Amino acid sequence: MMLKTLKSYFGYTSFRPLQEQIIKQILNNLDTLVLMPTGGGKSICYQLPALLMEGTAIVVSPLISLMKDQVEALQANGIIARALNSTNDETTNANIRFECRQGRIKLLYISPERLLAEINFLLKDIQISLFAIDEAHCISQWGHDFRPEYTQLKVLREQFPRIPIIALTATADKITRNDIIRQLALRNPGIFISSFDRPNLSLTVKRGFQQKEKMKCIFDFIYRHRNESGIIYCMSRSKTEKVAEMLENHGIRVAVYHAGLSSAAREQAQDDFINDRVQVVCATIAFGMGIDKSNVRWVIHYNLPKSIESYYQEIGRAGRDGLPSDTLLFYSFGDIVLLSKFAAESKQQEINTEKLNRMQQYAESDICRRRILLNYFGETMDHDCGNCDVCKNPPERFDGTIIVQKALSGIARTDQQVSMNTLIDILKGAVNQEIIDKGYDKLKTYGVGRDIPARDWQDYLLQMLNLGYFEVAYNEKNHLKITETGRKVLFGHERAVLVVIKREEILQKQSGRKKKQAVPTQIPVTMVFENEDDRLFEELRSLRKRLADQQAIPAYIVLSDKVLHLLASSRPTTIEAFGEISGIGEYKKERYGKDFIEVIRKFTG
Ligand code: ADP
Ligand code: ZN
Repeated sequence: MMLKTLKSYFGYTSFRPLQEQIIKQILNNLDTLVLMPTGGGKSICYQLPALLMEGTAIVVSPLISLMKDQVEALQANGIIARALNSTNDETTNANIRFECRQGRIKLLYISPERLLAEINFLLKDIQISLFAIDEAHCISQWGHDFRPEYTQLKVLREQFPRIPIIALTATADKITRNDIIRQLALRNPGIFISSFDRPNLSLTVKRGFQQKEKMKCIFDFIYRHRNESGIIYCMSRSKTEKVAEMLENHGIRVAVYHAGLSSAAREQAQDDFINDRVQVVCATIAFGMGIDKSNVRWVIHYNLPKSIESYYQEIGRAGRDGLPSDTLLFYSFGDIVLLSKFAAESKQQEINTEKLNRMQQYAESDICRRRILLNYFGETMDHDCGNCDVCKNPPERFDGTIIVQKALSGIARTDQQVSMNTLIDILKGAVNQEIIDKGYDKLKTYGVGRDIPARDWQDYLLQMLNLGYFEVAYNEKNHLKITETGRKVLFGHERAVLVVIKREEILQKQSGRKKKQAVPTQIPVTMVFENEDDRLFEELRSLRKRLADQQAIPAYIVLSDKVLHLLASSRPTTIEAFGEISGIGEYKKERYGKDFIEVIRKFTG
């Protein structure tokens, strides 16, 4: 019965891990807590029971955009769902209430404030099958998405003692978990925690790139992902605008999203992204919570995030549909200086500094990065992932004692009164005002590092900072101060091991501005399906876009990228075969089958 409903409404033939157990638990009217990573498949855990149970499921959701997305996705599968919220006009809401009372609606999405307002009215008039509390971590003050109204939801348990409550979140930590159980007053809840691994996300980190190198790298990356949506997270608002401008100059459709924009402008950016009118969004961390777009194919961090939690949440926005997706993290000395300063000046100084340290360790890691991530979230993994840059290209090391000594003695001879850039100038024997004024050109270390390019010095110095050979005095113009450990190397009591710098000739050619239309060097990463034809895929994609525009819904709601790939590889030419494809239920089969097989027939002709 459950499997039959799964196929006929959602088009899937098997459950993901835990989904079945969770659904059974709810069908037995038991309270449930579900912790699954983004893209893990939480929605079906309450949507399927909602279909199998009598009455209406009430789904509490914190953001209107999320509700809209979910309701559209359900309707696209022929399921009657509505959202009751403050953006609807009164007539719409009155109609929805009427439909609810008639028992016609299977799932009613509602904001927490609305729910509290309706609790003694509408909710008393309708037969409720279950309560689902989505993004349940919003209840916890510890997290970053705290929503005060969520803390009042415990009235549900009091007022509806017989109706099961299911709370769902992608936030895994214990404090949040306990907060949810306590604040919702869940009754002996079944707790289901799935692995937080997202094996389809590739992980890559690049250290010490300057702006020009970063942009070159980003252009290459985007060309490899032509037509594929992605997000670039930047630390500052101005950076998002700068990066966006550079992309735009290369003909890439891009929007900017940050807290300094009006809410109308932000909504527009989000909407353009969801509907594929722009390919890229350059955003500060504020972007993403409100989107369920399943075909975000890549995420780039232009700067180092402040914690592994933020990082994981942000890269998690890629590849919700389970298809291979790429993530790329840049980090530089400047990021660390700035973030350390923020952490030091923040209220929870110790915690934030520790979080940043862990983030840095991740970025510097020479063991499988996924192991570090999972370990951070309390999971252990007993094998290397094979899908991170360390696994694919393990770092090589060498004895870098002399390099370290040159740098540290440069610091020592200036009485530790130099910042990183000045130090590099000294090592390189550069001639500029500061060097001359301060007489640095007379130092014994002046020019001893000529043989090493400045950008490599950047990299080595960052490594040294991470190895703890010196610190940055954030309150003293970012001057560098040698540590005890550093002293040991400087005086030859200990040796230093550095990582060999590998550069994929990033700055090659790039002369003039003639190369506007670079040719993609590699095939798109998602072409992993057998016999898949690129051109057929593109034709199916444009058909999907047309159908989406006709109905004013996002393309990924019509059919997911995965379904499109499956179609392009298995090429069904009958409605029946079309309906067999994973992800196509009865409703989509009837609605879209004809159009798609027509394209496929013409193509295979
Ligand atoms: P979450 O809410 O946990 O982020 P979703 O519920 O949006 O994740 O599901 C992520 C993706 O996985 C969706 O595209 C969904 O259709 C798909 N999915 C969920 N369950 C299954 C399943 N049993 N088989 C195949 N795909 C599934
Ligand atoms: Zn790995």
